[in-house]
Amino acid sequence: MMGQSETLRGRVLRTVGGVYEVEIGDEVTECSLRGRLKQEKGIGRVAVGDGVELERMDDGGCVITALLPRSSRLSRRSADGRREQLIATNVDQLGAVLSLTRPEPVFSLLDRFLVLAEANDISAFVVCNKVDLPGANAVSELFVVYREIGYDVLYTSAKRGQGIEELREHLAGRITLFVGSSGVGKSSLLNALQPGLGLRVGEISVALERGRHTTVAAALHPLDVGGYVVDTPGLGKMRFWEMGERDLAHCFREFEPYLGDCKFDDCSHVHEPGCRILEALEHEEIHPLRYESYRKILDESGEESSRW
Ligand code: GDP
Ligand code: ZN
Repeated sequence: MMGQSETLRGRVLRTVGGVYEVEIGDEVTECSLRGRLKQEKGIGRVAVGDGVELERMDDGGCVITALLPRSSRLSRRSADGRREQLIATNVDQLGAVLSLTRPEPVFSLLDRFLVLAEANDISAFVVCNKVDLPGANAVSELFVVYREIGYDVLYTSAKRGQGIEELREHLAGRITLFVGSSGVGKSSLLNALQPGLGLRVGEISVALERGRHTTVAAALHPLDVGGYVVDTPGLGKMRFWEMGERDLAHCFREFEPYLGDCKFDDCSHVHEPGCRILEALEHEEIHPLRYESYRKILDESGEESSRW
């Protein structure tokens, strides 16, 4: 048949105004959506991270013809708080980056990131950067608790190249979202990992933050070792859509063995008699800082709405 087109598969790296940058094999091509897919609104719409099927047209251009199933999705709330907006799909893991000193680690923020990952069924690991700085060693011991509850903790120095190989192994072949306050060294780590990468990430963030009212757009950056790093400008300030089906206590993985054993079925683990979580806290089976984070997030979610 004349004009028969070949079916290809690719991954959406970025979208800008109806144009989709898709990685197809080794090339990145600007594509459009086939009519039917254009009608889709909200989370049904093709997004950054999506695997797609495409057809190459006679003129050499490509059009996205189908959306492949998603393994995960990361969303935020629209400004009016009513709608779910996709940030990125198919994110495999979240890398929470902190610096051991300058700036000091904020454990409640780290726990918030870990909750986000748990709630979305995305795995997570912790990167402690700036191990080269004086005083870093003493602080690094505070992260032992995260290892004990099952998170990988990597120690790095972007400056000295320490731990970079291990980080690279962690990223290979997966889609990773890095989160962390500014100044902890995310760009530096990415640059150490793959020169030029962190720089690009930084530039994009600045450009997008200038236009306040433009939608915060994510982008996927291919890694030489395979896999991608997701760049989401201003992620820290976003309100996330929802934390999945499970409630907050289930997002603290070390709480898991005790849940369901409290005296009251609807125990909030704050003041109730016969609470197994409070008991575990007392017996030092749950770390006080982790419990404190639970309380903080619980209080805030109550203030904002019944749903967070
Ligand atoms: P980002 O905001 O998280 O992307 O952080 P940057 O990568 O921009 O780094 C913030 C500052 O920390 C810069 O001045 C970096 O040079 C510095 N920095 C980053 N990584 C390290 C490190 O491993 N050791 C030390 N001493 N400084 C670092
Ligand atoms: Zn309880």
